[in-house]
Amino acid sequence: MLRKACMAALGFLGLSRKSESELRLVTVSLKEEEFIRRAKIPKDVSVVVVSRGSEGHISAKCKNCSASMMAAERDPLLWLKCPRCGRVTFAVLANLRQDLGYAEGHGGTFEFDLYFLNEASMRMMPPPDMDRTDQGSFFMLGPSGRKI
Ligand SMILES: [Zn+2]
Repeated sequence: MLRKACMAALGFLGLSRKSESELRLVTVSLKEEEFIRRAKIPKDVSVVVVSRGSEGHISAKCKNCSASMMAAERDPLLWLKCPRCGRVTFAVLANLRQDLGYAEGHGGTFEFDLYFLNEASMRMMPPPDMDRTDQGSFFMLGPSGRKI
């Protein structure tokens, strides 16, 4: 079974002098088993997607700090930040929707790992301000992809 996975690609905007960077999503096709194998390789952050009826409940943990990470949606991405060490990463919402579908067919839960962004990536694509207290420590993914 093939799965279309979105990868975030960073690129600078043309030759303009502006230092703005551009986020592009590139879709690649991977065999589902290969996608799952890569997703499960131990990394910095563990993400859990739980199917709750038609919604998904997404939470993440910084393995280094054993801390629940803050989540903030900035379409097309879900940003995750550790409140202790302050490091950040993100997941592509379109992929999370597929992960939710996978969870539904496999006992209701799908767990995978993510790397933290390195400094070069953060310079090219600054994460959103996530220090506000209105960001929750988990994220609800509705069937339409809207935040509940
Ligand atoms: Zn941490």
